[in-house]
Amino acid sequence: MMKFSLFIVLKILNGVNPADWDYHNLGEWPRVCQTGHSQSPIDIKKWGMKKEFTQMIHYHNFERSHSATISNTGHTVEVRFTDQNRYPLIIKNGILPGEYVLDNIHFHWGSEHTFNNKRYAFETHLVHYLRQAGSLARALQMENGVVVLAVLSEIHHRDTTQGFIEIANSVANVARRLEQPISLGSTICPDDFLPKYNRDFFLYRGSLTTPNCTEGVHWLVYEQPLNIRNSELDSLTKIYDKNSNEITQSYRPIQNLNGRTVRYICEI
Ligand SMILES: [Zn+2]
Repeated sequence: MMKFSLFIVLKILNGVNPADWDYHNLGEWPRVCQTGHSQSPIDIKKWGMKKEFTQMIHYHNFERSHSATISNTGHTVEVRFTDQNRYPLIIKNGILPGEYVLDNIHFHWGSEHTFNNKRYAFETHLVHYLRQAGSLARALQMENGVVVLAVLSEIHHRDTTQGFIEIANSVANVARRLEQPISLGSTICPDDFLPKYNRDFFLYRGSLTTPNCTEGVHWLVYEQPLNIRNSELDSLTKIYDKNSNEITQSYRPIQNLNGRTVRYICEI
């Protein structure tokens, strides 16, 4: 009885256990997810925004092929690079307030951010932490600790992105295996997940889009979407959660801007 009451109290205080969240119990997501004022994702009102010109971001080692693992986290497909001791993946310069290490790439289906209320089929997140923090967990507690690059994707009947093919080919191996990373059959280039030609982006301060929804995250949402074919989209998103239910969509609804500024950045 004691235990049961304690469980109820904890549940009331904290909402759901952070590990137990899903996209069907959004109203029970913990803490700042409910009370924060700088949450993500947001709708980006593209038209009429004034461009700001800045120096270019440098993507260090992004053009190289890297060995990597993929895993089914129970919420998404996550890619981690395993050769960062030799070839650290770092973004720096331009608008960035420091040097940031690539922690992981993962995906959402449909897109989390929207442009003028248009939702795209898919969104890729490249999550980075401040180099001197040493880890994502520590960076989340620091000012300017985390930068997420976000790239939307739309369905194209012919054209796709090489990185999506490589990952799609391996997802079946982790579809029902939670939190057990496996080596990707081939190497991949982080550059593949970024727009090739036009890297203008929208910049704002938001949060992680999954519990605990920690705020203070710098979001760079690229204006140019990447193409993805239906076949890659289908394979890449065919994973199951801890209850063996297929994850049919994995985006959080649009959050209120609450007076935040979104900047439109073009690099020169
Ligand atoms: Zn994400």
